[in-house]
Amino acid sequence: MVLKKVKFLAKEAALRLKYMTNKDCIFCKIVSGEVRSNIVYEAKRVIAFPDINPIAATHILIVPKKHIESAVGFQKADTEDVMALFGAAKKLVDKNSLDAYRLAFNGGKFQHVPHLHMHLVAGKKIEWSKL
Ligand code: AMP
Ligand code: ZN
Repeated sequence: MVLKKVKFLAKEAALRLKYMTNKDCIFCKIVSGEVRSNIVYEAKRVIAFPDINPIAATHILIVPKKHIESAVGFQKADTEDVMALFGAAKKLVDKNSLDAYRLAFNGGKFQHVPHLHMHLVAGKKIEWSKL
């Protein structure tokens, strides 16, 4: 049991290193473990962690392990990584029993971290302007 867990963690660590393609990117650093975060969901191609500056009671960032820059700039080869964001969103929606939520991508000057991420926000009231 312990050996299985160690093997799983070693595999995850290897994958994280493999996907760390931009050494100055804060989200790559979270993926690689260089910057600590409270990871609430992890799968082969994605991780999710709470936004450091939440705009609602629930505000989770879903991030591909691969450094893809934006929601409109990804390549065909990134399709599975992008799809995985939606798979993770479903898991998190179910896990948190969210009955009202918003999934969003920022772009251009609205995007502050140039590593693709989906915002999952939920709560009593979400001000659209804050996203
Ligand atoms: P965007 O404006 O769509 O690029 O959103 C970037 C988001 O990343 C913002 O909501 C930030 O609060 C969030 N953020 C930046 N650095 C961190 C971090 N180290 N951990 C968690 N969230 C972060
Ligand atoms: Zn990155």
